Formats: sequence, structure tokens, C-alpha cells
Amino acid sequence: MKKLNIRTGSRTELTDITGAVQRAVDESGVQSGAVTVFVPHTTAAVTINENADPSVKRDMLFEINKVIPFDDDYHHLEGNSAAHIKSSLFGCSETIIIENGRLQLGTWQGIYFCEFDGPRHRQVWLKIMGE
Ligand code: ZN
Repeated sequence: MKKLNIRTGSRTELTDITGAVQRAVDESGVQSGAVTVFVPHTTAAVTINENADPSVKRDMLFEINKVIPFDDDYHHLEGNSAAHIKSSLFGCSETIIIENGRLQLGTWQGIYFCEFDGPRHRQVWLKIMGE
């Protein structure tokens, strides 16, 4: 298993980790298989979405923060229920096919680490499996 260390800079943000995941695949030498990208946190997540126009990231966070506001009638004493809910909605893992040593992503797709309770030091775990 490989681990990526990520330092997030704001309360909510989407960090493009596509390049770091591809580098880990390169180092593994796996040409054909899959990589599982797993986020071991309850207030963060991983998602795949457009990485061409940065406005998409902004709009996604803008809307998710409206749908699940930071402050509401939450009972969780830690005060970060919104982050827990967003984490479960987005999910903690993605699996991406590897072919010819390359992540098989669509033209406009990138892999994003989703911070919902930052800024913090975070980890992403990668399991690269070859055929
Ligand atoms: Zn909490």
C-alpha cells in the first residue's frame, strides 16, 4: 500500500491528486490492473469529476455547502456534522482501471481529494493491483 500525504488549506476544498496517483502507478510498474484510492477520514472524501474548468470545483463546493450548511440543528458536539454528511455523500473510495501503465480516466476527468473540515494534514491510501 502507498500513502499520499496532503495538506489542505481551507475548510472545504477539492485537491486534484490525479498526478500523484499516476506517479504511484508509475512507481509500481503495474501495466494492467486497477488502483483503489481510499480516504481514511470521516470528514473528507474522494471523487472523480472535471479537471479542465476550475469553475466546476467552485460550483460543486458552493452548492454542497448550501445543501448541507455548516451550522444547523446538529447534535454532534464536535461541531462538524456537515463535514461527516458530505464525506458519506461523496464516499471514501474510487477504483480506477490501469491500462498500459496509465490511469484510464475520461478526457475531462480528474481525481479529487475532498476536504470538508480543513485545513488539516490528510492521507490518501492507494492499493495498486496488477493482473
Ligand atoms: Zn465529528
